[in-house]
Amino acid sequence: MFNRLIEIFLKFPGIGPRQAKRFAYFLAGQDAKFLKDFADNILEIKKDIKQCDSCFRFYAGPQCEICSNINRDKNLLMIVEKDVDLENIEKAGIYNGKYFVLGGTLSLTNSKNPPAGGLRFKELFNKVQKAKPLEIILATSATAEGENTSLYIEKILEPLRQSQGKHIKITRLGRGLSTGTELEYSDSQTISNALKNRK
Ligand SMILES: [Zn+2]
Repeated sequence: MFNRLIEIFLKFPGIGPRQAKRFAYFLAGQDAKFLKDFADNILEIKKDIKQCDSCFRFYAGPQCEICSNINRDKNLLMIVEKDVDLENIEKAGIYNGKYFVLGGTLSLTNSKNPPAGGLRFKELFNKVQKAKPLEIILATSATAEGENTSLYIEKILEPLRQSQGKHIKITRLGRGLSTGTELEYSDSQTISNALKNRK
């Protein structure tokens, strides 16, 4: 049971074996009430949190408040890797367009073949085809994987750029973000600069 728990924590984003063990030992040291509360909250999560079928972010409440907000600019579509990136950009308070959550990055070893599992390239294609934004902002991380992912997105959207009557501009965040930075760990000022300096 203990080892199974460690295996589960290992699946969490950014968690290595040492941290997974720490979490498991932490739980082992808690009383029954804490553990029941923890387990109950995990079981409830699917009831509280839904995934938007347009931008694919997770949200609580009756509807996705970004997609349903008519005051947001539908001509702008920003593609982010994950929900925490989106949250970080929202926190910076300088972006008023729409989003698409891709679900991760393309690994470098998988650059040639269409990637399997998890990443929503097909959904992205459909979304762009339907929403017809004027500008698509690629906001992947300033890492090799992020770069690789952006290149792949440009490649799959190319037929749409050519077929749709109006020109879709594809931009990337300016690298106020230093190389190797993940959006998740960037502060609001850095994100603001990166957005202003997109090209
Ligand atoms: Zn949405």
